[in-house]
Amino acid sequence: MARGKPVKPEGSLTIVGAGLAGALLATLLARRGWQVDVFERRGDPRLFGYAGGRSINLALAERGLHALRQADADGAVLERAVMMRGRMVHPLHGQPQLQRYGRDDSEVIWSVSRGELNVSLIDAAEAAGARLHFDRGLESVDFAAHSARFRGDARPHPFTALLGCDGAGSTLRAQMARHADLGERTDWLEHGYKELEIPPARDGGFRIEPNALHIWPRGRYMCIALPNDEKTFTVTLFMALHADGSGDPDFDSVASGAQARALFEREFADTLPLIPELEHDYEANPTGSLATLRLERWHLGGDAVLLGDAAHAMVPFHGQGMNCAFEDCVALARHVDAAPDLAAAFAAFAAQRMPDAAAIQQMALENYIEMRDLVDDPAFLLQRALERA
Ligand code: FAD
Repeated sequence: MARGKPVKPEGSLTIVGAGLAGALLATLLARRGWQVDVFERRGDPRLFGYAGGRSINLALAERGLHALRQADADGAVLERAVMMRGRMVHPLHGQPQLQRYGRDDSEVIWSVSRGELNVSLIDAAEAAGARLHFDRGLESVDFAAHSARFRGDARPHPFTALLGCDGAGSTLRAQMARHADLGERTDWLEHGYKELEIPPARDGGFRIEPNALHIWPRGRYMCIALPNDEKTFTVTLFMALHADGSGDPDFDSVASGAQARALFEREFADTLPLIPELEHDYEANPTGSLATLRLERWHLGGDAVLLGDAAHAMVPFHGQGMNCAFEDCVALARHVDAAPDLAAAFAAFAAQRMPDAAAIQQMALENYIEMRDLVDDPAFLLQRALERA
């Protein structure tokens, strides 16, 4: 199914990670005529189910959808997505209110399952001609010899260039850092998150308004809920990891299911009848941590380049990490096609995308304050309405 230019004379491109960015990038490059090999640490999610580990669902926005359209992957994804017209804000007292994102349904975002999205993109990559190798985690790279070792492979794999889509804890990034100072800095957020579930109603439908991103803002902490196509909602509680002297709750002091119930009775009372397994979910699900990763350098000449979370992981409050990773894929594929060689392509890609990623990372940090504290503040809402008018 490869279309466009014939196989490039330079050889094959090796993508590390078949997650969201890796699978989309493989599709875009294979469709441009590149021979693409993708190595993924986990098993094939189509055979063994999706072993995610991170958020269960994600908000897909126009930026991300635009990228999916370039790979003709938007149709399959939207078929199972749930439209979110705006924020449904649940105050401590009073009725929930919908704040629309735009004037009509042309300005909405979509809730998508991470696992289903990943499977659709892996299917697209394979259909485009990419070769996928599962259970093959990158272990080490010999840049001088242009060869990489993957767990499970006895022999090293020769490469022309490595494209790092292996996420926030990128092994490729660590290997690159042995050769050059990438100027890496990670700022950990003092807040973490825990996922809970609202199951379907007895009649099989959604228990609350499906076409909204629900927010329970409580000042310095909050819950959100995104709908899933199987009529459930994934609820995420964000709050401080440790006591910070403010008197607000934190994951250290709300450690057990019973303590979680007491917190929810006090602060999120309208969610309690919706989450029957609260105590179980709270104790069984891990507490996730969140960070902003900044690098001063994303590539090593024409040998390796980083994109997506491997280059610029961000906190999730703008719902843009995946969307931004998808934009990276489109930009990188375009530069690889247009530039005279890979070193020039990677340099042009980094020059274009580094400022954009930095701006979105900053907006994501600021949006936590807006979501947890300002979305039910009338003065803030009036100011936003005037800005939009
Ligand atoms: P990943 O999705 O992390 O994929 C990395 C892949 O590389 C994985 O498949 C992994 O198994 C593989 N891998 C790792 N190491 C190796 C190795 N050594 N060798 C081979 N393979 C390897 N973004 C949004 O746009 N909207 C949202 O609503 C949103 N919500 C979020 C909520 C939470 C709680 C969190 C934590 C994040 C959220 N994000 C959201 C961000 C989004 O999840 C990431 O930005 C996105 O997953 C980045 O994609 P990626 O492909 O770069 O990395």
